[in-house]
Amino acid sequence: MKKLGKYSMGLGDRFGHQGSAQLKAIISASQKGIEITPVWNKSNREHITIGTEPGDVRKEADMVTRNAGYNKAYFVDADHINMDTVDRFIESSDFFTIDVASYIGKRAEDQEIAEFVASVERYTGNLNIPGTKLSFSVSKSQVAQIAEKYLFAAIKAFAIYRKIEKAKGKDNFITEVSMDEVPNPQTPVELFFILKMLASENIPLQTIAPKFSGRFNKGVDYVGDPEKFAYEFESDLMVIDFAIKEFGLPENLKMSIHSGSDKFAIYPYIGSIIKKHNKGIHVKTAGTTWLEEVIGLAESGGEALGFVKEIYTKSLEKIEELCAPYADVIDIKISSLPSGHEVSEWSSSKFAASLRHVPGNKEYNSNMRQLIHVAYKLAALKMENYFRLLEANEETVSKCVYENTYNRHICRLFNIN
Ligand SMILES: [Zn+2]
Repeated sequence: MKKLGKYSMGLGDRFGHQGSAQLKAIISASQKGIEITPVWNKSNREHITIGTEPGDVRKEADMVTRNAGYNKAYFVDADHINMDTVDRFIESSDFFTIDVASYIGKRAEDQEIAEFVASVERYTGNLNIPGTKLSFSVSKSQVAQIAEKYLFAAIKAFAIYRKIEKAKGKDNFITEVSMDEVPNPQTPVELFFILKMLASENIPLQTIAPKFSGRFNKGVDYVGDPEKFAYEFESDLMVIDFAIKEFGLPENLKMSIHSGSDKFAIYPYIGSIIKKHNKGIHVKTAGTTWLEEVIGLAESGGEALGFVKEIYTKSLEKIEELCAPYADVIDIKISSLPSGHEVSEWSSSKFAASLRHVPGNKEYNSNMRQLIHVAYKLAALKMENYFRLLEANEETVSKCVYENTYNRHICRLFNIN
């Protein structure tokens, strides 16, 4: 059976040029005693925007691991697929993030809801999580509400899973269920009953991605109270642990954190809580590799700097169009964006420092960073030129990608000095 390691990391690489630098970061962690399974993920939306195919991600992953002589497990994740989008990912992926967000809130059949509520009656009243101080009072009507909200989504997850299983064979892929792209976070009690729903058909679920409170904006730091996050995260972790034993879910089921790029404020909490309970984690990072490419090109100066300045100027012109698909996961203060004219005068280091996520650096501009984050489409429109510049400045760019993945992410998450 394909199994994800205890620690795993989703590595997004929108343009498919940075796999080697990302793998190098994984290898550096291994040299420090932290084994992380690399997973290359790319969503359908990213494929459509850039004009790539899921098979391209497979080719990249196979190539960079082969070139590095990397003989451990690695995976290619069909990120956020559902019934409508799964087909073209089936052949090349061996990790499937089944996204049930669009099914949450749709109602299952009355009888299915009634049967579920009856099956969990013994958890109503006081729900105590053994070995912890967590105790929730749960009413029957609350369980009914949870079933009304989530049961249909669980049933859909089974249907999508079966479709993949039929094509690939039972043990040949990793299954994740994600429900993070919704307006409201799930409570630990909701998560408990959702896991019960997901346990009913014995699908080999290895990761589950809930939504947490606070803002997980793309490419920038967590917005919210880190202490509150820590409490919620630890509660969810304990709920998953209990659900595994109670419902017979796979032993190696673990938490997956989406939009995991750059959440520096909460990394120390995540790191210490998983260590305290000896738990694994999957952290999905994504589009910030593209940001590192832009930073690397800025640092390279000359034509490359001109290219990324032009991307920025264009992104200001097309800001509404670029931001619309990401409205729920970015917060850009337009008044804090420098004008194209201003930026045209900037040096390499000024441009790079404005984008590079170093909290506390007064040059860093999180608004500009978020805008560039969603502007990758503009580079896709000039792909030939873009790739030529990436290749001409490979050393500088891949150094940025490596340092971002290793120093700013892995070292902080896993407390490596
Ligand atoms: Zn997600």
